[in-house]
Amino acid sequence: MTDILARLGLRPVINASGTMTVIGASSARPEAIAAAAEILPRFVEIDALQRAASRAIARACGAEAGFVTASTAAAMTLAVAGAMTGLDRAAIARLPDSAGLKNRVALLAGHRISYGAPVEQAVRLAGAEIVPVGQATSAAEYELAAALDERTAAALYVVSHHAVQTGMIALPRFAEIARARGVPVIVDAAAEYDLTGFLQAGADLALYSAHKFLRAPTAGIVAGRRDLVRAAYLQNGGIGRGMKVGKEGIAGTIAALEAWARTDHEAERRRERRLLGLWQGALAGRAGVLAAIVADPTGNPVERLRVTLLPGEAATTAWDLTSFLAAGTPSIAVRAETLEHGCFELDPCNLDADEARLVAERLQAALDARPGPTPYAAWRSAREAEIWDIDEPSPETGR
Ligand SMILES: *Cc1c(COP(=O)(O)O)cnc(C)c1O
Repeated sequence: MTDILARLGLRPVINASGTMTVIGASSARPEAIAAAAEILPRFVEIDALQRAASRAIARACGAEAGFVTASTAAAMTLAVAGAMTGLDRAAIARLPDSAGLKNRVALLAGHRISYGAPVEQAVRLAGAEIVPVGQATSAAEYELAAALDERTAAALYVVSHHAVQTGMIALPRFAEIARARGVPVIVDAAAEYDLTGFLQAGADLALYSAHKFLRAPTAGIVAGRRDLVRAAYLQNGGIGRGMKVGKEGIAGTIAALEAWARTDHEAERRRERRLLGLWQGALAGRAGVLAAIVADPTGNPVERLRVTLLPGEAATTAWDLTSFLAAGTPSIAVRAETLEHGCFELDPCNLDADEARLVAERLQAALDARPGPTPYAAWRSAREAEIWDIDEPSPETGR
């Protein structure tokens, strides 16, 4: 038997980008793979499996209760729906028609992000509408207070490197203001390591992606207040049906949470720092190339290598270099959100030592090959034209 990627005609990818869902998010941990494989051929009562998940989530997150969803995007839709309907089964059946319900969700304007799809759309899918608070770069407490009224179902708070990191309202104050008005606070913490801090800071529900740092199969986690968890879970008999998580996702998430508690996180950090040092060494002495170790913008305990290519001094540009890395076999994916500033980042959390060495070699090969320079605007339109096209001619028929 050949490798599954070869059988399907796929290029292997080395992930130096972190937990990006477009390339498979993370390398699942052995405990999660074993649990998913063990439960897949079996039959279980899903509600009972979710009760076991609730206990595991409660322990890991310091929450009253929890359940597993298809993803964080699904968790957001279900959590908002639950905040609107409570346990009213008729209202649950009527969604996304939310007439007569509290159906507004307050969201800081600086949190109106896209994680691959707009955060607002996950909210609107439930039948709610977004009330933006403040401006893209600032929000005042009085603006939040004024946005919360008798029609407000929930206040959503997004913790993410995509969100604006300055001028926002800190979560403890955000939660205090919402709580004073009886409005539940839902925190999108999809890519965050801290499983307990957001609930401690006043969130009523915290949502996580199981397939990111936890390295479970694709799934989401809802953790928090029992009544809100229950109301969100009931949506599985309503709008949640099309967002169903499988038994393998639930069992894999439980196993990953248990493994997470046993993980030697300090040893992980030491391992990651060695990879960063290897890449930094590979770039040392290259003209116009700066390589600096940087902290995570939302305080996750992961460091990355920021590589900056100075215009006119470096052999190529950041966007030409990363295209060169992506075009090879294996393809190498990096964090590329800051390309227009002439830099990108390498994330060590999903690579083994052999893959990291290959990345170092390919970085050097790219600087030797001096690809480009392509103007940034031209590079960007070419890039946008090539994504989302899954329809290509069959190699056999040419059609
Ligand atoms: C990844 C991410 C999501 C989406 O998570 P999925 O589990 O892939 O649906 C939502 N919000 C933020 C901040 C994310 O980073």
